[in-house]
Amino acid sequence: ENTLQQVDPELADMLCRERERQVSSINLIASENFASEHVFQVLGSELNNKYSEGLPGARYYGGNAVVDEVEQLCKARALAAFRLSEEEWAVNVQPYSGSPANFAVYTALLSPHDRIMGLSLAAGGHLTHGHYTAQRKVSATSVYFESMPYSVDKNTGLIDYVNLRKQALIFRPQLIIAGASAYPRQIDWGSFRQICDEVGAYLMVDMAHISGLIASEQHPSPFSHADVVTTTTHKSLRGPRGGMIFSRKHLERQINNAVFPALQGGPHNATIGALAFQLKQVTSPDFKKYCEHVVANCRALAAYLSGRECSLVSGGTDNHLLLWDVKSEGLSGAKIEKVCEMASIIVNRNAIPTDVSPVSPGGVRLGTCAMTTRGADEGDFERIGSFLLRARDIARQVQSRSGNKLADFCACLSDPDLPEKEALSEL
Ligand code: PLP
Repeated sequence: ENTLQQVDPELADMLCRERERQVSSINLIASENFASEHVFQVLGSELNNKYSEGLPGARYYGGNAVVDEVEQLCKARALAAFRLSEEEWAVNVQPYSGSPANFAVYTALLSPHDRIMGLSLAAGGHLTHGHYTAQRKVSATSVYFESMPYSVDKNTGLIDYVNLRKQALIFRPQLIIAGASAYPRQIDWGSFRQICDEVGAYLMVDMAHISGLIASEQHPSPFSHADVVTTTTHKSLRGPRGGMIFSRKHLERQINNAVFPALQGGPHNATIGALAFQLKQVTSPDFKKYCEHVVANCRALAAYLSGRECSLVSGGTDNHLLLWDVKSEGLSGAKIEKVCEMASIIVNRNAIPTDVSPVSPGGVRLGTCAMTTRGADEGDFERIGSFLLRARDIARQVQSRSGNKLADFCACLSDPDLPEKEALSEL
């Protein structure tokens, strides 16, 4: 058979360049990871070809004997990975990703215009936790449901449980979401449960970022507190891109119906197969060790930066990510992101609690999952920390010539005679 290169050289070349980019850069994106060759093998298998709307044993298509086994295996391994009993918990492994999983939970448990509360985007929440702005209902979760965000204490960077409770007593939400995309500290699931009980709300935990850490006991488990737990499968869990919904047994039917037929069609069986593979790995001693390293590496990076007078939101980290406040150093997250990318260090700008405008986030989010998969240790992360400080210094020099505006800064950076060129290439 002809190779992809022969059949479609244009696309093959793009794949080749993306591979090269991934191999030759330092990836500090907190939501990303490198899936294993075996995950890729299952993703590229014949499971891709099969339609199987419905659930194992109750499909709308013939020919699903093997696919049924694969999905059952995946579900059993998902429960095992989080130490859950089949008597108390159900799991749906069909959500296409984290966002559809979250929307499926709302569809299952709420009526249109019911009230939800999630951590605000600016404080580290996710779009699907009800995000809107003064101008626009940005996320569909704020179009179909009434949303009131809670936040963190601006001084400590920690979730303000006292204020959350006050807000909840006034707003009376039907559902509260605990979980985040950019929160460097442990989340106190018990406090959320208490508030939910007081106002009669469901507690939905979105553990997308930290599900690998929870499986490996590097972060307290939310399962004794939550009614429903959603997750992506491709972040700290290191699987294929996908989503899962865990629910208390009595909510199983509602959740299943919301995923299919309410929101989705045929499950992505190759993804479910690849997830089954990864969930087995998740229970291995190697994965536990991996997650211990993820957290230790993040602590090492945090210690390196804060030891050199960098300001970190909340002062440090308990998990796989940290938020570096570059605004307090007179810079913006976008500028650090740009300079880092020129040196093949991939980070993302991120809002920090003291930002006044979301347009120019004052922080940079740094995560350790991906590089830990590639074998980086604490010493490596200290070196990465030193690269980041050099990138910051270069950003400062460029800014001193360009002025504050991002467009001028970028123009200055792309000048072929950039004076910092050598410093960048050394980086
Ligand atoms: N929930 C949280 C906390 C996330 O961080 C993300 C993605 O970053 C999602 C949900 C959505 O996942 P996906 O991008 O797979 O839709």
